[in-house]
Amino acid sequence: MNMVEPRHFSGLRGALTLDAPLAPHTSWRAGGRADVAYVPADRDDLALFLRQLPIFEPVTVLGLGSNTLVRDGGLRGAVILLHNPGGALAVADGLVYADGGVACPKLARFAARHDCSGAEFLAGIPGTVGGALAMNAGCYGGETWSVVAKVELVLRDGTFVVRTPSDYAIGYRSVARADGKSADGIFTAAWFRFPSGDGELARLRIRELLARRIATQPLDLPNAGSVFRNPPGDHAARLIESAGLKGFAIGGASVSEKHANFIVNPGRLASAADIERLIEHVREAVAARTGVTLEPEVRIIGEPEA
Ligand SMILES: Cc1cc2nc3c(=O)[nH]c(=O)nc-3n(C[C@H](O)[C@H](O)[C@H](O)COP(=O)(O)OP(=O)(O)OC[C@H]3O[C@@H](n4cnc5c(N)ncnc54)[C@H](O)[C@@H]3O)c2cc1C
Repeated sequence: MNMVEPRHFSGLRGALTLDAPLAPHTSWRAGGRADVAYVPADRDDLALFLRQLPIFEPVTVLGLGSNTLVRDGGLRGAVILLHNPGGALAVADGLVYADGGVACPKLARFAARHDCSGAEFLAGIPGTVGGALAMNAGCYGGETWSVVAKVELVLRDGTFVVRTPSDYAIGYRSVARADGKSADGIFTAAWFRFPSGDGELARLRIRELLARRIATQPLDLPNAGSVFRNPPGDHAARLIESAGLKGFAIGGASVSEKHANFIVNPGRLASAADIERLIEHVREAVAARTGVTLEPEVRIIGEPEA
């Protein structure tokens, strides 16, 4: 039942939808609905929405949903959909500015166009800048927070704060507050410090990285990238393959034949429960076969179907 209603708000310029399907907003193309979904017009509009949203309502943010499984019972409260194809990018004072809703590949190409180096790895991460900050996304030796100069967040009460990397304890796909307080806020913008370089070389490297991904990842099928974190000194994909799980399926979800750490939804028929059960099965089978307990990298949120 919706507790959030349009009457709670005035002056908004974004799009508010009640009982909104979230599958189209996740790269797995599966999962439940949001009581309320809000696409803000810009950062100030997002702040206005948060100020007017009843304080007891939970808030979840999704970028491109490329690392998220929303259970079939959906999400209570409000879901902020932050992907913004028209989001701002700029160069100023030696830093590259990006709105939180900008897609990472777009940021990588923008940086290359401005003769920066060190942003190429972002070209293959199909999420938003905000999602990359929340996950410390990375690949091929690059990591999001290693190139961050500062970030802007909007907090639950609608106020903005600016923070720097020293405010965070950053690890492999992990971002926590340095002072031990629980993670808070929505990343609305980031300023990156990319070394100056050769734009043509950066574009070449982007093409090479993308070619490597096309060759090794099932990019033609709905997926959420690597499902499990790599355990220290090993690769989750190797362990899953060694347990004979390539191609193993539950309902509409299957372990990719191309990359064993990917779960795909080929017919777009998988429920979130199919995917979650498959994740659990892979974990148990790998633990039984190798003694290693894999930890999910994907974030699983929401309620199971009643
Ligand atoms: C084909 C494929 C390849 C991938 N390759 C890689 C890779 O090489 N390296 C890698 O690290 N990841 C990879 N991923 C996973 C994914 O793209 C990254 O984790 C990405 O950073 C997620 O961004 P998103 O905007 O889609 O986040 P979402 O999935 O929408 O959200 C992920 C988490 O971040 C939070 N979040 C999102 N936006 C914000 C915000 N603005 N402020 C605060 N919190 C926020 C969400 O609440 C959620 O907890 C891949 C995924 C796919 C589908």
